Amino acid sequence: METKILSGQEAIKLGAEIVRAGGVVAFPTETVYGLAANAYNPDAVRAVFAAKGRPMDNPLIVHLADKKLIHTVTSGFDEKYNALINAFMPGPLTLVVPRKDSIPDEVTAGLDTVGVRVPSDPVCSAFLAACGVPVAAPSANLSTRISPTSARHVYEDMKGRIPLIIDGGESIVGIESTVLDITGETPVVLRPGAVTAEMIASVLGGDVKLHSGKVLAAAPAPGMKYKHYAPSCECVVANDIASAVECYVKEQKAGKTPVILCRGEHTGELGGCRFIDLGRGDAEVCRNIYSALHKGEKIADFIICEDLGAQGVAASVMNRVNKAAGGKRV
Ligand code: AMP
Ligand code: MG
Repeated sequence: METKILSGQEAIKLGAEIVRAGGVVAFPTETVYGLAANAYNPDAVRAVFAAKGRPMDNPLIVHLADKKLIHTVTSGFDEKYNALINAFMPGPLTLVVPRKDSIPDEVTAGLDTVGVRVPSDPVCSAFLAACGVPVAAPSANLSTRISPTSARHVYEDMKGRIPLIIDGGESIVGIESTVLDITGETPVVLRPGAVTAEMIASVLGGDVKLHSGKVLAAAPAPGMKYKHYAPSCECVVANDIASAVECYVKEQKAGKTPVILCRGEHTGELGGCRFIDLGRGDAEVCRNIYSALHKGEKIADFIICEDLGAQGVAASVMNRVNKAAGGKRV
């Protein structure tokens, strides 16, 4: 199958036609690129899993053009959570809510809940509106690979597997949405993202359970049990710049071609080490992390990423980096 990359109105129109006819296309969002299927069509949803090589027990997120449509996919939730919809939608927040029966098991992996999101990217909104149906989508990478933040990244994984990639430029947030389960007594962050637990707690004025190994084991987030975001080469997290440089020298002596990923503020402290600049400030680092990992695995065979911190959005970025590193630290 030929995989076209198109942009503008033509891409949106063709993409929506393919989705309405039961096909699968890649589309841009502000978080990462997604693989779209009509959420009401179980065969189309199966085709997404096939294109991605993903196990069917990992639920997809349902994407809507407008927050007014949320009630069309959920059987209802506590009204206090409307405050989150007002504050963070459209945007990088997915709410796990009780599902309506019209959403098939293929989308939710058989769970009685559904993850819903209203993206803010304008190309994405136009595409979803043109589809005219809820769009079930995972990230548009092969299962276990790094998530795509550009049409080019998608092409590398999906070439020959889907007919169309809608090119909307680079994803401006850069990591997957925050997934928040609001079906229990206390909301639980199942996956951290650019909307942080602190931001959610301040809108709700109440407790938010944090994503953590223990909470997660008890929570219905099947996606979390798979290895995610893995570059094709070795990857480690360095506690600080000195450890990053030390590791770089050691690996180079061992015959490796390493590269260091670090904040823009630290590029002056690397001596002669090769590096990829993640930019300045958390939002920029978040936007750049996946392209840096994509680039790193191309130009090097050993990626060393500095620890970016444990607060706010940096903590969400580190959630992805730690997975890429398989928990390895130096
Ligand atoms: P991705 O498709 O790669 O962005 O990942 C979507 C993730 O959203 C899944 O792997 C789950 O972790 C989460 N998710 C989606 N729907 C649900 C749900 N109904 N319950 C819990 N987690 C969900
Ligand atoms: Mg993914």
